[in-house]
Amino acid sequence: MTPFLLISGKWNANLRAPFLPAVVSRAMRTPFVAGNWKLHGSRESNQRLVQGIVNEIEPLQACQVMVCPPFVYLAEIGQALAGTDILLGAQNLAAEASGAFTGEVSAAMLRDVGCSHVIIGHSERRALFGESDAMVAAKFKATQAHGLVPILCVGESLEEREADVTMEVIDRQIGAVVDAAGVGAFATAIIAYEPVWAIGTGLTATPEQAQEVHAHIRGVFADADAKIGASLRILYGGSVKSGNAGDLFDMDDIDGGLIGGASLDIVEFVAICAAAAGKN
Ligand code: PEP
Repeated sequence: MTPFLLISGKWNANLRAPFLPAVVSRAMRTPFVAGNWKLHGSRESNQRLVQGIVNEIEPLQACQVMVCPPFVYLAEIGQALAGTDILLGAQNLAAEASGAFTGEVSAAMLRDVGCSHVIIGHSERRALFGESDAMVAAKFKATQAHGLVPILCVGESLEEREADVTMEVIDRQIGAVVDAAGVGAFATAIIAYEPVWAIGTGLTATPEQAQEVHAHIRGVFADADAKIGASLRILYGGSVKSGNAGDLFDMDDIDGGLIGGASLDIVEFVAICAAAAGKN
């Protein structure tokens, strides 16, 4: 692991930072679980899902829970969540504020329908829709400019892991955002570490593999700003299920999960949230 030092607003890969303990204060980070519904659902199935989640999850005060439906359902799901503590997030947004961008959705529009968070740079956006590091950084900035919290997704492919360049990939993806938005922007951001080879594949990183990357990310931020390093929530995503959530969330630097497939199953999702709630 080679933590980066932040020098003159640039992540500098060549300087090794003095070791700082990655676990600074786990208790100050409320566990967070986000359900990414991706391109699934209908008005009818969404209502069943959201009502099931609301009924089962409301008592879990020790964990922040969020659902991220497709754009067209956001307003309706937002209404179903009214009066609950469950948060509403979007899966993507446009970097642009307004204008001739057919098919796009802006940060202001997401706020308008009740979103508080936006997933940025999901690996499916990067791989299938050609989102570059620069585009992801622009979306991150647009999110924060409108008072929304970005959940920045980073993660390596299987080839990159096998080539032993996982940390370099993570540093490049985060570095692009830090260069554009500054380290301070991460005081109000969340990171999701999602190894691409684990997303939707049924393959999960072992708790130790995930912890190694999470500790690296926290160490990078702690080197630049100890307070941000201590408070930054870093979620794990990649085939999290009720059966493996507890072991993953037990790790010191894993503060919850970004859940895809299992977030569409009420029993599974609630069990994952309960595992996260039991973390502190
Ligand atoms: C995701 O889409 O972010 C994800 C982690 O999916 P899954 O849980 O299905 O692997």
